[in-house]
Parts: sequence; structure tokens; C-alpha cells
Amino acid sequence: KGSLNFENTFDNFIEGKSNQLARAAAMQVADNPGGAYNPLFIYGGVGLGKTHLMHAIGNYMLARKPNAKVVYLHSETFVATMVTALQLNAINEFKRYYRSVDALLIDDIQFFAGKERSQEEFFHTFNALLEGGQQIILTSDKYHKEINGLEERLKSRFGWGLSVAVEPPELETRAAILINKAAQSQVELPGDAAMFIAQRLRSHVRELEGALKKVIIHANFVGRKIDLELVKEALRDLFALHDKLVSIDNIQRSVAEYYKIKMSDMLSKRRNRSVARPRQVAMSLAKELTNHSLPEIGEAFGGRDHTTVLHACKQVKKLRDSSQDLAEDYNNLLRALTT
Ligand code: ADP
Ligand code: MG
Repeated sequence: KGSLNFENTFDNFIEGKSNQLARAAAMQVADNPGGAYNPLFIYGGVGLGKTHLMHAIGNYMLARKPNAKVVYLHSETFVATMVTALQLNAINEFKRYYRSVDALLIDDIQFFAGKERSQEEFFHTFNALLEGGQQIILTSDKYHKEINGLEERLKSRFGWGLSVAVEPPELETRAAILINKAAQSQVELPGDAAMFIAQRLRSHVRELEGALKKVIIHANFVGRKIDLELVKEALRDLFALHDKLVSIDNIQRSVAEYYKIKMSDMLSKRRNRSVARPRQVAMSLAKELTNHSLPEIGEAFGGRDHTTVLHACKQVKKLRDSSQDLAEDYNNLLRALTT
């Protein structure tokens, strides 16, 4: 969780609609640290490339100015280091160190939640850096205003520069990422095989990487070149497991359990909010995570029309933007169903 990872660069970051804005902002900050956007705040779900982009900025800055002091650390490391500094009566050294950097990259700052002393310390560091024109880059799994347990003054400061989201990559981007990762391992992954994997695994890039590793190991083991057939062989078990986890049935069960409603209500036509909302969430997750069509999903929810499912998806999308609670529920469920 320390220092920069030299393997995460802009060159091997595949661009798609889902990460275009974040990549462009990162590029501008790398080009003009302290001068473009300060802080740069990158947020989005697990495995979507936030940490990669953050390292890419750091590496770019170092390539330009090899003696620049670019410090990367996870927020938990910041907390741990501060605690040690306090124990050793070395808080002034701690302060001095973090204020002497050209760029401070802190990953996953949602872990600052509830840690008041760390927030206090970080608040002062933040101000000092901003004043000194030194670049601050932060990532989080949530939009800064939505991080519970974070002081208001920090929340508002995090929005002073630019906040950009990374979204889950679309199909073609997922396939391109796979081909690129394979090439990095000196392996050729044919387009149809890449598309096949990308179609089946939709949640995040880490999952794609895991699948690719399995394929490469299998190819080495059986001594064959990678093609669609080999991919299907290599990933049969993974897909079987995946299908079980993200079946409509399991999504319904997980959502029902999460909201503490009965499975029978999930499948019923009852319209009170307390059951209708979870049902909409489940429909939306089914659309996002499975390959089932709208009519198929409607059918699985007690024989509803496909327009009902479509409406649910739209409704949930809107609510995820406007309601912090719903956004959190959705992300929790998404995580539980895909990891
Ligand atoms: P996050 O920090 O958002 O959880 P990471 O940056 O750790 O995600 O990304 C997870 C993995 O996926 C890393 O190995 C990263 O290199 C890779 N990855 C994510 N997005 C891309 C992309 N657009 N192009 C290439 N690799 C990517
Ligand atoms: Mg990360």
C-alpha cells in the first residue's frame, strides 16, 4: 500500500466512454500539477481503474520531472502512520513530511470516515498543500458529499477542484482491456474470445483480469493456443459459479434479505413502497448483472410486462443519483453479488 506502481500508466489504460472524462482530467492534472484542478477527486465503484489512473498521473509527473516528490499512499496507511507518529511524539515530522511533497496521492479516502483525528490532520495538510500550489489527488468509492462520517469542511474542500466519476466499462471497452492485458503478458487473445469473456463478466475489471489469468494458465497447461474453445473450457467452472451467483433467483433472494422483505412479496404485485422499491432494485440488478432480456426478467418477477422492468431500471438509475441511501444500498448489493 506504499509507493507508486510503475506498471499503471496512461499508455496501458484503455479508454472508453465509461472513463473518458476521468482519464482526460487525470491527463490535465499530470500535465499541469497544482495548476489544472486541485484537488482532483476520482470516484466510482470497485475495480474500475481509479487507483490505476492515480498511479498513471504520478508516473507521468515523474517521467517529466524525475526528482519530483510524488507520494502515493492508501488512506489507511495515512491513518496508521499518523498513529505511529503520535505514539512516537513525532507528529511534527509527520506534518513536515506530508507538506513537503510536490504531489500527494491518497487512495480510497472513504476510509477516513469516522477517524476524526486523521481527518483533522489531513485537513491541515490539505490546506497547506493547496496554499503551496502542490497537487492533491484523491480517490473514493463514493462522491465526496456522500461519504458518511466525513467532516463537512473536508467534504466541501474535496469539491473545490474537480470531481470525476469512473463508470463500469461498456462491452467493447471490457474486451479491449482484456486484449491489452493479454498482450502485456505476451499472450494473444483473439477478438471473439475477448468478446465472449467480456459478455459474460460485466461487473469490474478485476474480475476480467482474474478470468484472463485462468485462461492463460489453462492454455499453458494443455499446451494450446488461446481461442474461443479454449476460453470456454478454461472458464466453465468460473461461469457456472458466476451464473449461480448472479441468477435472477439469487438476486431476488439477496435483495429480499437485504431489505428484510419476504420472497413472496418480491414476486407479488403489491405496490406499497416498502416492497415495490426493493423489487425495482432487484429488477435493475437483474438487468445489469445478467444476460436476461427485459421480458425474461419481467416473467421471473411474477409475470410482469417488460415495460415494468424498463420503468424500474430508469427509476432506480434516477434514485441512485438523488438518494444517498439508495445509492449505498445498490452498491452494497452489487458488491455482494459480484465478489
Ligand atoms: P479501483 O482502484 O477503481 O478499484 P484499479 O485501478 O485497482 O481499480 O483497477 C483494477 C484493475 O483493473 C487494475 O489491474 C487496473 O490496471 C485494471 N484496469 C481498470 N481499468 C482499466 C482500464 N481502463 N484499462 C486498463 N486496465 C484497467
Ligand atoms: Mg483502488
